[in-house]
Amino acid sequence: KNDGRGRFRLFTEEMDDVLRQRHEIERDLRAALRADDQLEVVFQPIYDASGALVGAEALTRWPRAPHGAVSPDVFIGVAEECGLIHALGAWVLETACRAAVRTGLPKLAVNVSPIQLRGEGFAAEVLRILSDTGLAPQRLELELTEHFHLDPGQNTRRNLHDLRMAGISIALDDFATGQSLLQYVRDYEIDMIKIDRSFVGRLGQGDGTDEVVRAMLDLGRAMGLEVTAEGVETAHQREILLSMGCRIFQGFLLGRPMDGNRLASLTDDRSGQ
Ligand code: C2E
Ligand code: CA
Ligand code: CA
Ligand code: CA
Repeated sequence: KNDGRGRFRLFTEEMDDVLRQRHEIERDLRAALRADDQLEVVFQPIYDASGALVGAEALTRWPRAPHGAVSPDVFIGVAEECGLIHALGAWVLETACRAAVRTGLPKLAVNVSPIQLRGEGFAAEVLRILSDTGLAPQRLELELTEHFHLDPGQNTRRNLHDLRMAGISIALDDFATGQSLLQYVRDYEIDMIKIDRSFVGRLGQGDGTDEVVRAMLDLGRAMGLEVTAEGVETAHQREILLSMGCRIFQGFLLGRPMDGNRLASLTDDRSGQ
């Protein structure tokens, strides 16, 4: 009995810790957005089969958080819960668009939370940022994570439609199974899927992953979608993907996320070819 009660107390204390931590992150993130010098956007290059740079994905960093660097997996989640994701998302988009213009990046991919997408004025805000920064809509791709379909609401649909009509492309991130591909492509207008790195990381091990990935690539092709493999870490993985017909690659093998200056040197190399 005592033991049980002790465990329960431990449990509630841990819960308190988690809540307190979330609360602190929320407070610090609010301040960071106001300060405008704590958050950063880095860029991970994306290449085609010939090795040409085709674009880069913007990833947000918070290296100087008061209690040490916080991973985006954590602070994006907190921002989504407390509503800060709207301001954070707008800041990321604007910062990334400016860098894309400055560096002459052919295509910029920016992650968008399902919460942003269901905001009524989201599409209009994206277009406003494009016109403010001078980035052509054709050079912007928005990446949506798989779970965005949990909210198939009016606003989400209208925003997606308006964005695509303006020339912005839509990628489905962290793509997992052929089942969901069919569902998404039926329900939404999608241009690209990104094969989740949990699959790419298990290629070539004879555990059935190769067959699943091949099926994703075949499905994508059959439906006229571009397919990017993400999390490519080894030459072997890239070879397997190439042999299956994959043509677009992102991952540590090809390039880690980097700041705007290093990105600029990559786009220079490209134009100097
Ligand atoms: P994601 O969109 O799937 O981004 C790819 C993640 O995989 C990045 O982690 C990147 O650094 C990592 N990665 C890339 N190549 C490799 C590889 O070869 N091996 C391994 N092990 N990892 C690789 P990161 O930057 O920590 O971001 C984590 C997640 O946080 C992102 O996953 C995305 O869902 C979210 N995120 C990051 N920035 C933003 C943002 O500005 N807005 C929103 N809504 N979400 C963001
Ligand atoms: Ca992404
Ligand atoms: Ca992803
Ligand atoms: Ca992910």
